[in-house]
Amino acid sequence: MKLTIHGAARQVTGSMHLLEIGQYKILIDCGLDYEKDRSIQSNEDFPFDPAAIDVVVLTHAHIDHSGNIPTLVRLGFAGQILCTPPTADLTELLLLDSVNIFMSKAAKSHKHGKGKFGTNVQPLYLQKHVMDAMDRFVTIGFNKPFRITGDVELTFVPVGHLLGAAAAVFKINDGGVEKTMAFTGDIGRKNYPVLDDPQALPPVDFLVTESTYGGRVHTADKSVEETLVDVIDKCCVKEQGRLIIPAFSIGRTQSLVYSLNKIFSSGLLPPVKVFVDSPMAARATTIFRKYHNLVNKEAQDFYQSQGDEFEFDNLTYVENLHDSRQVSNYYEPCIIISSAGMLEGGRIQDHLFYNIQNFYCTILFIGYCAKGTLGHRLLRGDSIVHIKDRDLAVYATIKQTDVLSAHGDHDDLMNNVRTQDKARLKNIFLVHGEDSSMQALADGLSAEGYTVTIPEKGLSYTL
Ligand SMILES: [Zn+2]
Repeated sequence: MKLTIHGAARQVTGSMHLLEIGQYKILIDCGLDYEKDRSIQSNEDFPFDPAAIDVVVLTHAHIDHSGNIPTLVRLGFAGQILCTPPTADLTELLLLDSVNIFMSKAAKSHKHGKGKFGTNVQPLYLQKHVMDAMDRFVTIGFNKPFRITGDVELTFVPVGHLLGAAAAVFKINDGGVEKTMAFTGDIGRKNYPVLDDPQALPPVDFLVTESTYGGRVHTADKSVEETLVDVIDKCCVKEQGRLIIPAFSIGRTQSLVYSLNKIFSSGLLPPVKVFVDSPMAARATTIFRKYHNLVNKEAQDFYQSQGDEFEFDNLTYVENLHDSRQVSNYYEPCIIISSAGMLEGGRIQDHLFYNIQNFYCTILFIGYCAKGTLGHRLLRGDSIVHIKDRDLAVYATIKQTDVLSAHGDHDDLMNNVRTQDKARLKNIFLVHGEDSSMQALADGLSAEGYTVTIPEKGLSYTL
């Protein structure tokens, strides 16, 4: 059999791996590549014929793993897309949001005559294509072996990270020889609010693992709740100011809301008004409620004793734009959770516009901010930033924490490999990481005697 890493090779986004067993072609993930130099349109250039793919296996809903599926379907893929039930629901939500982003970019480019690259920007796909793709989804529960063909069996193993996220573990009959292989997708962390800990994978011959945090270790001196209590106590209780938390609507926001619920219901802090200002976050929370049996035991126990973990007295989900603007007129201390996490677009822009010059405002970053984003400029300490066509001085306090990072760190990635049977594991392929992260993880694993490959994009490896 043959493995080709077509995306997320020496980079983070655009996960897309082709596994060929004889003539049978399995595509593991089909994500949007944000790092393509020309434009999002270049995601159309698949390095294979989409119609020749037999089946797609999707590890989780994040757009860098799922976001190019509608393009694949639009260009001729006609097979099934296999994933867990929450992944199917969350993917639909995220893909429809992608369409909105494409449409607004297209509208802007038409308004200004030309797009960034000299041509009018066309949406990569439309709602119709998302629906065509959703028709192909077939869901499989965690830890339930599923026979894709007579020769290929697939099992989804939970990896934390996001509701529904799974490693894809294959048992393959390759011309009479049994081979096993696992693709980790993205690996989460232990003790993450709402989500279960990643489960150890069964022993395999070949492992394709993510490497986002290779060489980096998360700070571990304080828990999520301790960190939030410290920030809220200073900003909202002592200084009577407002706290703005830019957060990804799906996953991060639900973990944050649950942590705040625990803090306020246990009386660790006096009640502070909390606004969740993101329509997508409200919809995603409904999906989290639907799969209540898949949240971790602590969250389930909380539900039993205290009720809905995503609702509390001083919490408001802001639905429409009018109500969102009213949040700016709320003069009591408050916490505003809004998207997008890197501050590029979304309702968070309004909140920043009205609060960035407020000495009594703190902006707490809980996620990664890519270079070139407003979030990145604030984090590097720019004293003036450009928001909504105005240059504004930054008087708000800027803070960052990694306690809510949804990726395991270097030690977690190492430990995940260490649960494997070393004598059996023939090769570890590193994907989904910057060059330096991959190298650091490769060095760590090689030092312990593992065989590691940092694959070249598009190069096929015979296994
Ligand atoms: Zn992910």
